[in-house]
Amino acid sequence: MLPPPVSATTDEAIPALICELCRLFYTLGWVSGTGGGVSIRGREGIFMAPSGVQKERMRPEHIYLLDGDHLLGEARVLRPPTDPNLRISECRPLFYNAYRLRGAGAVIHSHSIWALLAARLFSPRGEPAELRSQDLEMQKGLRGHGCFDLLRVPIIANTARESELSDSMEAAMRAYPDVDAVLVAGHGVYVWGADWVQAKTQAESYDYLFRALVEAHRLGLPITPRPAA
Ligand SMILES: [Zn+2]
Repeated sequence: MLPPPVSATTDEAIPALICELCRLFYTLGWVSGTGGGVSIRGREGIFMAPSGVQKERMRPEHIYLLDGDHLLGEARVLRPPTDPNLRISECRPLFYNAYRLRGAGAVIHSHSIWALLAARLFSPRGEPAELRSQDLEMQKGLRGHGCFDLLRVPIIANTARESELSDSMEAAMRAYPDVDAVLVAGHGVYVWGADWVQAKTQAESYDYLFRALVEAHRLGLPITPRPAA
C-alpha cells in the first residue's frame, strides 16, 4: 500500500509538526531570537506557536489551538498550552489575514536575513515598495509563476508592534493577489500556502530568491534582468 501523502496530517500530529518545522527553520536562521513563527490549520481549528519562546525547544504541549471560525477581533482559545505563562503570538492577526483573505492552510513567518536584505534592496528607507525578480528557476516553486515571469512581491513598512502590521498587510494582500507572501521592511516575511507543504515549499523558494537577489547585488550583477513590464 502506498504511504499517505506527505501533506495528509492529522490534527493530533500538527503540534509535533509545528515543533519539527520550527527546529528546522531555526537552523536556517528564520526563527532565531524567539522571532518568527509557524501556524497550521487543522480540522479542529488553528494551531499556533506561542509568543516569545525559544522556537527550537518547543514541545507539542506548548502549541495553542484557536477557533478557526472566528478570524476577526480577539482570538478565541479552544485549547491553551499546558504552561499558563505562555501567551498567544503577536503574529496572530497576521496569520489570520492569510486564513481569512486567502483560505490558507498554513502560514510561516520568517526573520530570515535574506528576506530583510532583499527588502532593503528595493526599499532603502523601509518605505512601502515592491520586490521584483525574473528569470530565476526557483520562481517555479511559487504558485502560478514560471521562471521567466516577472515576480512582484509587496513590501510593507515595519511597525513598533507586530500586530500593528495587520492593516497594511491586508492592503498588500488585496493589491497582490498573485503572490502568497508579504515582505516587512527591516523585519522579515510572511508566506502562506494551501497546506503546510505548499507554505514550506514557497517559503524555501522565496528565501532562495531573496538570497539570489542579495548576492547578485553584492557581485554587481543585474538583479532584474529584464525591464519591468
Ligand atoms: Zn516578526
